[in-house]
Amino acid sequence: MKKTALASLLLLALVACSKNEQTTQPAPVENKVAEQPATQPNPVADLPAAQSAPAAEPAPAPVAETPAVEPAPAPVAETAPAATATGCSFDLKGTDTMTYTDAAGKPVPEIVVPASCQDFTINFEHTGKMPKAAMGHNVVIAKSADVKAVSAAGVKAGVKGDYLQAGDPKVVAASKMVGGGEKTTVKVPVAKIKEGGYDFFCSFPGHEIKMHGKLTVK
Ligand code: ZN
Repeated sequence: MKKTALASLLLLALVACSKNEQTTQPAPVENKVAEQPATQPNPVADLPAAQSAPAAEPAPAPVAETPAVEPAPAPVAETAPAATATGCSFDLKGTDTMTYTDAAGKPVPEIVVPASCQDFTINFEHTGKMPKAAMGHNVVIAKSADVKAVSAAGVKAGVKGDYLQAGDPKVVAASKMVGGGEKTTVKVPVAKIKEGGYDFFCSFPGHEIKMHGKLTVK
């Protein structure tokens, strides 16, 4: 008797549960329906009403809520491969967000210069809109170890000197500084950088931290 009563209660609980799951919106009506059959077997069953009540009530609890699927984070292209130049030139872009990118908008951590080139030309375009005084960019080539010193000397040269000390012996090559929408080029004699350890960077105050990459001859 007890077993059948429990079984019927379980069944009712399941029915109540499934009913509540199917239609959760009309909650008050659904509860009444669920409670009525739950109290019916009480006279027959030995269990007191108080015990059957909690059996039916917690049933609606497991609302099958599927957890929100978190969108997979987009892979950050921080570890972009070195850009190998085709021929003896490379198209480099500068942005209003203080970054160098390639033609496709990807970061340029390194430019590989073919060893067969006598001169290597970097065609630089500032694709932003900001003026030179606020977001000027250039392309300076120097030894990695000299970048900080060249930048510091450039700050002293000021905006009039395009943030580059005139005749700085540490500078291998440098373009002029341009603002948004402007283009410039810099020609690098490959023999001078063949030994390795050279970088390209922007000498506008503070830009070198983000606008900085390796120039490798291979
Ligand atoms: Zn810059």
